[in-house]
This record gives sequence, C-alpha cells and structure tokens, in this order.
Amino acid sequence: MQHKLISFIGGGNMAQAIVFGLLKQGYPAELICVCDPNQHRRDLFSAQGTQVSDDNVKAIQDAEVILLAVKPQIMADVCAPLSAVDFSNKLVISIAAGISTARLTALLPSAKNIIRVMPNTPALVSQGMAGLFATEQVPTALKQFAQDLLSAVGKICWLEQEQDMHSVTAGSGSSPAYFFLFMEAMQQALVEMDLDPQTARLLVQQSALGAAQMVIDNPQTALSALRENVTSKGGTTAAALAVFEQKNMTQTIKQAMQACVQRSQEME
Ligand code: NAD
Repeated sequence: MQHKLISFIGGGNMAQAIVFGLLKQGYPAELICVCDPNQHRRDLFSAQGTQVSDDNVKAIQDAEVILLAVKPQIMADVCAPLSAVDFSNKLVISIAAGISTARLTALLPSAKNIIRVMPNTPALVSQGMAGLFATEQVPTALKQFAQDLLSAVGKICWLEQEQDMHSVTAGSGSSPAYFFLFMEAMQQALVEMDLDPQTARLLVQQSALGAAQMVIDNPQTALSALRENVTSKGGTTAAALAVFEQKNMTQTIKQAMQACVQRSQEME
C-alpha cells in the first residue's frame, strides 16, 4: 500500500478500527493524525505513536487524505470551518452514514476527489465489509488507496451507482444486527431447554462461524445447496426448516431489508 499523510476527523470507534488495522499492517504511525476534541480518545491514539490534534483545520493543512469519521448529525458543523482549506489536491473519504457525495461537495466546495464508504462494525475485529463509491473524477490511484485503506479492516466492494449504498446498508451496514438477533433467539431457546447460557452461546457462535466459513470455502456452491446438503429428508434439520418455511421466514427477511433501505433513503 502506498503511504500518504492521513488526517482522521473524529477518533471514535470506526476511526479506531481503521487506524489500528492500518498500524497492524505496518502503516507508519507518524503518517496518521487523529483529530478529536476528547482527550481520552486522543490519548488512545497517541499511545500507538500517531499524531493527534484538537484542531481540525490545522491538522488537515498538509494531509493528502482526510477521512471524515464524525457522526452524520454534526458533519455540517464540522465541515464549515474546514471549507476554508483548499481540498483540490486532497482525497476526502467519508464514512458517515447517509451523507451523499453531493452533500459533501456542497459542504467542501473545493473538494474534487470524494469517496463515500459504508463500513460495518465487524471492522472492529478486522472482519468488516465496506461498500465504496467514488465520484467520477477520482483518479484510479486514489481509488486504489481508499481500497487498500479499508482492506486493512476487512473486505470491500465498489459500487457503480451511489444509490446502491442503500442496498449495502441493508446487506452489510445493518446486517450484523440481524445475525445477532438470530443468535440471541437461538441462545434463548437453548437456555429454555435447560442448557447453561455459556454452553448455549458457544453452540450458537461456533455454528455461525462454521456456517460462514463453509460459505467462504465453497464459493462455487449455491447457498441453497449448502443448506440442502445438511438437510436429510425426514430428519431433525428438515423439521426445524419446515417451521421457518411455515412462518414465511424468507419473506420476513426480505421485508426487513426493504424497511432498512426505505429508512436509509429517508435519512439521505
Ligand atoms: P463515535 O461516536 O464512536 O465517534 C465519533 C467521534 O467524533 C467521537 O470520538 C467524538 O469525540 C468525535 N468528534 C465529535 N465532534 C468532533 C469534532 N468537531 N471534530 C472531530 N471529532 C469530533 O462514532 P462511530 O461509531 O465511530 O461513527 C463514526 C462514523 O462512522 C459515523 O458517521 C457513522 O455514521 C459511520 N458509521 C459507523 C458505523 C458503526 O457501526 N459504528 C457503521 C457505518 C458507518
């Protein structure tokens, strides 16, 4: 990966995941600056050898890449003083949910190179999934840089149209919570069957991990085939799956994901 001077505006959970991921890959700490008004957050980063600052404008002056990692609600207030800086030779990467590249361009008028990213929380354990969208004028080398940056904490995919960010939100941004809900319900059912909570959790987490690993290790096999391979006719798995079918689980999942997309569209 190419090395550039990066300033993170906002040093919260997501910024931490990305910075720690970069450092783990050997990215030079002195080329990273994290700006956050919270002293405790700054201490966390400076302990890793990065530069820190509580002055956003000063911290971005020399940066080649600015990564906006503040909450969407305060993005306009945070960008107002930054707009005095010339962004024409800088790459701006925003991970803020629901802030379009058009909105970012309005907030930072001199910015030409803008990449919008929808990450997800498994980035915190280096197993993230991020959707990336670049405006037309962003050169390939800068797109590659953004790709390498996000690859430090997981997998990435490029989107051709910005509107697909809504589907990415439904498919990966919000989806860890769907799996948590599924696992939570399974753990609860097992506890009601008299297993202790730790054993119940172990059964659920290891099965989820194992199922995901089988999907990853068998890229040519359809997901339906993986399911059918473990479902003997008249057996225990078939009995469980028949209940899901009766309750129209597939339709419920579809409706939940459509609701996610709708909410994402309303927020933009
Ligand atoms: P967070 O609350 O952990 O971090 C935000 C940080 O911004 C805080 O440390 C805060 O002190 C700092 N901050 C506040 N005002 C500031 C200012 N004026 N200048 C600089 N820093 C300031 O939030 P997070 O979970 O890391 O989310 C950051 C962004 O990532 C959000 O825009 C969110 O939409 C996006 N995102 C998060 C997730 C997720 O799962 N956490 C998923 C997708 C996208």
